[in-house]
Amino acid sequence: MVKIKMYDVETYEEQFIKDWVQAHDVEVDYEHGPLTKENVEDVKGYDGISLSHNGPFDSDLFEILASYGIKQIAQRSAGFDMYDLEKAKANGILITTVPSYSPSSIAEYAVMGALYFVRQVPLAQQRVQAHDFRWKGDIMSRTVKDLTVAVIGVGRIGSISARLFHSFGCRVVGYDLVRRPEMEDIVDYKESMLDAITQADIVTLHIPGNKETYHLFDDEVFRHFKAQTIFVNAARGMVVDTQAFLKALDSEKIAGAVIDTYENEAEYYRRDYSGKVIQDEVLLHLIERDDVLVSPHIAFFTGEAVKNLTEGGLNSTLEVLNTGDSEFRIN
Ligand code: NAD
Repeated sequence: MVKIKMYDVETYEEQFIKDWVQAHDVEVDYEHGPLTKENVEDVKGYDGISLSHNGPFDSDLFEILASYGIKQIAQRSAGFDMYDLEKAKANGILITTVPSYSPSSIAEYAVMGALYFVRQVPLAQQRVQAHDFRWKGDIMSRTVKDLTVAVIGVGRIGSISARLFHSFGCRVVGYDLVRRPEMEDIVDYKESMLDAITQADIVTLHIPGNKETYHLFDDEVFRHFKAQTIFVNAARGMVVDTQAFLKALDSEKIAGAVIDTYENEAEYYRRDYSGKVIQDEVLLHLIERDDVLVSPHIAFFTGEAVKNLTEGGLNSTLEVLNTGDSEFRIN
């Protein structure tokens, strides 16, 4: 029987693993912690492995894994910047990812976050918590249907965001390097990102984080925002220059922002810092602001997404073991 070893397994993945094992003639064992040099010997005797590695992966492990006969790593995430793909390939290790596991989850979160600020929910909640139940003018909000939304990156997730905002009655403008013909009925594509942004009451980011998009949202781009824009970043933290973003908040270009991804999040997100000191003053400041909703990269975090990630990792492991290849290979 084929034997698979999983690492970095969260307790919320366990039921999905059990269900998958029931449907397949495969033995699966798992660890909650990561694969390291200290525990790599445990891989001996297994046919394949699946990881959800976070942070840089020690490239020396490829050679050791290869010496145990391991030919693949199935990473249970869309991101793969933790792996040296060439070194993996040189050791005959094929790496797969799960590129799309629930685009609706992220799009729904982006829409929720935008509506949260459009409808003045944080302010209304503060008032109620102070037992002030009056209808004051500053919590009188705009109607979502009358707003223009700029979707930056109309890919898998951005397309769903665009459809959701459109279903509220919003005008949707968009910018992408590649236009999707099937979205042209919904998205009024603009020639440049600034063309889209200057018209928008809500700006939502759905582009990847890479060399080209690093700090794409800088002082100059924020200067083109309309006053009182609602801003959502559920894409990648590195896309936004946080200092420029803070200036845009203080100059009232941005009225409210959902920051689900933050450029220096790696140190903190997915860890419990309650009772510990957070050194990152910028993160502390963002958390304390009423006009920013900081969330720890959870836009994706739904049962559907976790099921698809867990099953995706196991399916790709089996696929590579059975066929030597996978449509989800990245090296
Ligand atoms: P995708 O590849 O389907 O779509 C990205 C789109 O951006 C593509 O259409 C591409 O052409 C476009 N694009 C790339 N560079 C661009 C640029 N410089 N200017 C304009 N358009 C550009 O990807 P996706 O699955 O829709 O993911 C979108 C983003 O969501 C990624 O950053 C991903 O990391 C992020 N994400 C966030 C979470 C979360 O929980 N917050 C979870 C999953 C994915």
